[in-house]
Amino acid sequence: MDIKYETIKRSELEQLQLERLQVTINRVYRNVKFYRSLLDKANIAPEDITSLDDLKKIPFTTKESLIENQPYDMFALPLRDVVRLQSSSGTTREPIVVGYSRNDIEHWTELVARVLNSGGVNKDDVVQISFDYGLFTGAIGFHYGAEYIGATVIPSSRISAEKQINIMRNYRTTALVCTPTFALQLADIVKKSDISPAELSLRVALIGSEPWSEPVRLEIEEGLHILALDNYGLSEIIGPGVSCECQEKNGLHIAEDHFIAEVINPDTEELLPDGEVGELVLTTITKEAFPVIRYRTGDLTSLDRSKCICGRTLARMSRVAKRTDDLVIVQGVKIQPALIGQILTEIEGTEPHFRLRVDRSGAKDELEVRVEVSENIFFDEIRRMDALHEEIQKRLEEALGFFVRVKLVEPNSIQRLNDSE
Ligand SMILES: [Zn+2]
Repeated sequence: MDIKYETIKRSELEQLQLERLQVTINRVYRNVKFYRSLLDKANIAPEDITSLDDLKKIPFTTKESLIENQPYDMFALPLRDVVRLQSSSGTTREPIVVGYSRNDIEHWTELVARVLNSGGVNKDDVVQISFDYGLFTGAIGFHYGAEYIGATVIPSSRISAEKQINIMRNYRTTALVCTPTFALQLADIVKKSDISPAELSLRVALIGSEPWSEPVRLEIEEGLHILALDNYGLSEIIGPGVSCECQEKNGLHIAEDHFIAEVINPDTEELLPDGEVGELVLTTITKEAFPVIRYRTGDLTSLDRSKCICGRTLARMSRVAKRTDDLVIVQGVKIQPALIGQILTEIEGTEPHFRLRVDRSGAKDELEVRVEVSENIFFDEIRRMDALHEEIQKRLEEALGFFVRVKLVEPNSIQRLNDSE
């Protein structure tokens, strides 16, 4: 445990947060046009932030704003001081490019080390990382964190579940990093095969990047004979390491020395008291390359600042159950990506994986929907592809009431929700 920060007294934490917030506000005001005009319009000067309460005066930052300022306009450092680019998964929306300075990477690594430590993982462990490597923050974030604490890392990435089980058995993996869906898949294979979970050395799984529930936890823990702990993060904030469960399994401790958390009513934007469920809003207070102020995460949770049995004093957030509606606005019409998903599942030959892109360059906004096609159709004759294309376009236009550009793409070509977004 990082005693200095994870068990810090609240009064000291608040003093630290204020100092770091002031530095961050100064940095974004000087270097990010978006924030300078946001603060100017709200009539706030950086020196007006003299208490943590003053943060409430600053308007929210939304995912829309990040998308509009792609790729680099939200960066508070020039690219020559940025040592890494990653991006959000963009499951149903455009991915957002984020950048890290050398210090950002160092902080991120320490934060992921906390996630591993709270699961009891240390240098004696063999950590298998079954997240997709690449632009998404999950895999590489954990990779750095696990190496930092001296554990032995297996970057198994996205090879098949059967092969992952073999690696796990042969290399005696003790800690697994993956999504809940993947952990369930592994448990299922173990159940159906002649492998007994006792043959595996696996002890703990650090699970994240998708919302999951207590019944799923039970299934994973019983299926693999392990402890399964939740962790939370999103690329726009830093990646994994924003918060994680301790072994009490009673909420995820937020790294409040790096992030200020608030919960609001997503409809009225009113601040909610601790214990009430609303949308999580995060402000980064140590990020140099890509700081965000009052970012609306779209994730629903509640806060608990009471002391935890584990000794950590950092506030806990309840497990994220579901996201608030991630609306896309096209030609003034609010569209819920879930509706498009629903229409697509009704059309034979399509996979439920799709991505929306809004082109605002012309006189009218144009919505492009990329749809993954089932394996058997994609390699089939062109005529069937054309018919499918036409059907999707017709069904979407009927539902939405305007022209939609449809693009059919290969199976598995759209990135899965494999990130902490
Ligand atoms: Zn705890």
